[in-house]
Amino acid sequence: MNQEPVLRLEPALLEQLLRARCVLVLTGSGMSAESGIPTFREAQTGLWSRYRPEELATPEAFRKNPSRVWQWYEERRRTVNAAEPHAGHHALVQIAKWLDSLHIVTQNVDGLHQAAGSPGVIELHGNINRSKCSVTHRPISREWLVDQEGTPPPSPYVRHGLARPDVVWFGEVLPQEAIDRATAIAGRSDFCFSIGTTSLVHPAAGLPVLAQQNGARLVEINPVETPLSAQADQCLRGTAAATLMAIRDQLRAALGD
Ligand code: NAD
Repeated sequence: MNQEPVLRLEPALLEQLLRARCVLVLTGSGMSAESGIPTFREAQTGLWSRYRPEELATPEAFRKNPSRVWQWYEERRRTVNAAEPHAGHHALVQIAKWLDSLHIVTQNVDGLHQAAGSPGVIELHGNINRSKCSVTHRPISREWLVDQEGTPPPSPYVRHGLARPDVVWFGEVLPQEAIDRATAIAGRSDFCFSIGTTSLVHPAAGLPVLAQQNGARLVEINPVETPLSAQADQCLRGTAAATLMAIRDQLRAALGD
């Protein structure tokens, strides 16, 4: 017999969440799955099924075949721009209003937390709707791109530069300011949610661990087990949307709102 997963925070954890002064929410691509944006593991369909994302989302892939990588990102951009935040993104906005201070740190490049209305989102891996120069890494505006020919269009800054997505590729370092801010939040948080991430890609995967080392309670939201599961205080084995709605309802009931 199939049993429904339990999506309620344990009473002691609910208490601690309500008392928390700083809550860290780390999200990965599973957070966006119910908005119709595939996780990397599910992403490769149709024309692109013969490539693994690890073979497209790298500086080497771009050097070897910039046109292929740009086209792949154009398709992903179309998917992202057709997507809308789901009920879980909206539940998180409501949850944040009830708590002292909640910070979203995301590995997603799709801007869906911001579209739902979450303020101050820290983007660890950039944003798919921004472009930058492949040589200088200076930002390139959309106004410049629309007037250019080429797949990818040229950079406005240097002769041999090209436009590339302003995202962090495998093997690249994260934007220093984003990781510094996220690390500072992890260091002072007393509650942490890790949502929809395999917890394999560092340094993001280290943030919940750091929070826990500093005394935070740790709750994982993911339908399947991850390397983080064993050390979480509770694992909620539901999807991001169902689980965040359930937590919102639990908080609402506890607060009598
Ligand atoms: P991943 O694809 O390796 O893993 C996704 C995780 O989400 C898995 O653990 C899976 O079990 C879980 N998941 C799937 N559906 C879920 C749901 N409905 N609710 C909750 N969890 C669910 O992704 P990753 O660990 O985030 O790492 C890959 C990197 O690829 C990301 O850091 C990101 O930069 C990039 N990426 C971004 C997007 C996006 O912006 N939406 C999409 C794909 C990949």
